[in-house]
Amino acid sequence: MAEAKVHAIAVMTSGGDSPGMNAAVRAAVRMGLHHGLKVFGVYNGWQGAVDGGSAIEEMNWHSVGGIMQRGGTFLGTARCQEFRTREGRRQAAAHLFSRGIDGIIVIGGDGSLTGARILSEEWPELLQEAAGLGLITLPEGAKPTLAVVGLPGSIDNDTYGTDMSIGADTALHRIVDAADQLMSTAAAHQRTFVMEVMGRNCGYLALAGAVSSGAHWVLIPEEELKPRWHQAMVASLLRGRELGRRHAIIMQAEGARHTDGLPLEAKTVADILTKQLGAETRVTVLGHVQRGGAPSAFDRVLATRLGAGAAQDLIANGADMPPRMLGLVNNQVHATRLDEMVEKSREVGKRIEAGDYEGALALRGASFTDQLKLLETITGPAPTHERPLGNILIVTAGHDCPGMNACVRVVTRLAREKGFDVFGAHYGLAGLMEDRITELKWMDVGGWTARGGSELGAGRMELGAEHMHRLASVLEERNITALVVIGGLDAYMSAQLIAQHRRHHPGLYIPIIVIPASINNNLPGTEFSIGSDTALNNIISAVDNIKDTAGANKRAFVVEVMGYDCGYLALMAALASGAEQVYLPEEGITLQQVTQDVASLQRGFENGKLLSILIFSEHASATYDQDIIRRILDAEGSDQFDVRSIVLGHVQRGGSPSPFDRILATRLGAAAVNYLSENHESTYARCVGLRGNGVVTLDLDKALAEMDWPAERPKVQWFMELRDLTRIL
Ligand code: ADP
Repeated sequence: MAEAKVHAIAVMTSGGDSPGMNAAVRAAVRMGLHHGLKVFGVYNGWQGAVDGGSAIEEMNWHSVGGIMQRGGTFLGTARCQEFRTREGRRQAAAHLFSRGIDGIIVIGGDGSLTGARILSEEWPELLQEAAGLGLITLPEGAKPTLAVVGLPGSIDNDTYGTDMSIGADTALHRIVDAADQLMSTAAAHQRTFVMEVMGRNCGYLALAGAVSSGAHWVLIPEEELKPRWHQAMVASLLRGRELGRRHAIIMQAEGARHTDGLPLEAKTVADILTKQLGAETRVTVLGHVQRGGAPSAFDRVLATRLGAGAAQDLIANGADMPPRMLGLVNNQVHATRLDEMVEKSREVGKRIEAGDYEGALALRGASFTDQLKLLETITGPAPTHERPLGNILIVTAGHDCPGMNACVRVVTRLAREKGFDVFGAHYGLAGLMEDRITELKWMDVGGWTARGGSELGAGRMELGAEHMHRLASVLEERNITALVVIGGLDAYMSAQLIAQHRRHHPGLYIPIIVIPASINNNLPGTEFSIGSDTALNNIISAVDNIKDTAGANKRAFVVEVMGYDCGYLALMAALASGAEQVYLPEEGITLQQVTQDVASLQRGFENGKLLSILIFSEHASATYDQDIIRRILDAEGSDQFDVRSIVLGHVQRGGSPSPFDRILATRLGAAAVNYLSENHESTYARCVGLRGNGVVTLDLDKALAEMDWPAERPKVQWFMELRDLTRIL
């Protein structure tokens, strides 16, 4: 190991709190300790640094145990006026310096991180001044530096330099839960709701909330309202009602503005709707509910990656690099200079203030504007124009999974908007062959976004050459001109087989697009498959519940999760739940390892631990199944601790899809339809996926060549990069 460029680091959370901050602190502290650094926690943000004393506390491994599943931040956070003054910062510098701290990790918004940058710039002078006042002693000729790494902690997701800030995904969970509930009461009473969500200069939560809840209109700060916008809104909602929609939800960001730039109150929108729709419209302001509760799986993993990355960055670069912020860009940890991040983050607000909405939207990036455009299409009450482009048939194949319905909905609506007629096959490929096909009209898929499983019905079927004749004749009779298959590896293999049999069956000469949907995340051509985020959240909430049962008895739980040959769910669940050990199919299990695990459990329990979690992927080993592992651990633990096993099973597949899965389903579904509509006259078999910097479509054969047969997983799996993190933390 090269020598660390810092010796003692401090970690703090500052500004508004956000769920996931605890996981970031935990990872930063433990990674620092792992590298032999002294690590301090600063309580209450910059206030703690100014106060010193017990507000700056040395941390050990256990100081950050058992906090990951908690919302908020155990370090506390505050706003601090004194720190905005030089005297305040001098005091803070003296307190940090006197503990030997030469690196700091600040988790917060742009204000908190600006404070860190200023402190770092002024550090040598502040220390000189403090020495002059006798607050510290500064060795002759010393050239002290303060290395700074910031992390984006904000539920608004308004930070430049990261695709997601820590807390935004959890806030989205709260919004989508609330919207789902409003939808059901709204539908019962034929009501309209205006739901106000956070985001003063950032429409992310409103936009992503609307995409993932299936809301019917969205109002965000970055989009300029056209004159008489309210008439367009009312007309769209009225048309929806004529077509049978029983309810409507308007998703509004708190920072939405009138055409003249003045704030647009949710109540104003509600009044317009009450008057013009002739029905009562209620306002729901979600407020601080959005900040609350246990962090989502995504936020725990994001925060863990960034927290660990921050400590590693300080160790590797110290003050050689200017103050920087780590974010996640295209699923990779990425550093941006703090001054650049602050300037660009604030620029959006300035543009909105100046009425330059186009500029503000452009700064949000392509994915944001694409989603906004898409939302305008799919939330409308009906397609706006008709061109007979062909007939698309949608099949959900193999196992069903959460997010399939959201995907069918967007494919149906967008394809109709583009001028296709759309049909659905019931009960997968078997149903297709039995001609169990119905037309999917615009309103048929209303309200599908929130529903788990597959409304069309899925089902496994071993497709073979002998089925091709029947399949081709159904497609021909129905005049199907394109096939969209949503599913897991079954779907990919079936689509490939169909494409291979085109020569013999003219009815199969149609374009085929596969959309990845499987909780296992074991599919080629994509980093994420629809359903896997929901499954992960199901797992970690089950593990959270298990943790709550910790009592006086020392106990280890071996929790078996799904994944087939792919360790994604197991590894991410281990990372997001702080599990002791994870058994993966990618690695197998050796007796030697189990022996080490016994020793490590014994050590842990001797040191006061009461509960330990081990995550077991269902195909981790052909020899040692979960029960054998449990029995070995139990026998070796003898009277020191006992071991229980839990098989989560189908609980993992169940429930309403997470916001991430709904958004992924929407993006991938839209990409499939866009590709089809631009290439509807040629014949191909392709799949869509989320990869690197965005959504891609790939040749199906090429994608399947990425598989690590006979293991049913891709050869390269990005998440295996995180394996070491689970070992260290
Ligand atoms: P956020 O970090 O969420 O953007 P604030 O803007 O309120 O929240 O900043 C949090 C704290 O960071 C402030 O109370 C203050 O202590 C510190 N801070 C913010 N801006 C500055 C600044 N320009 N100089 C020094 N400290 C600052």
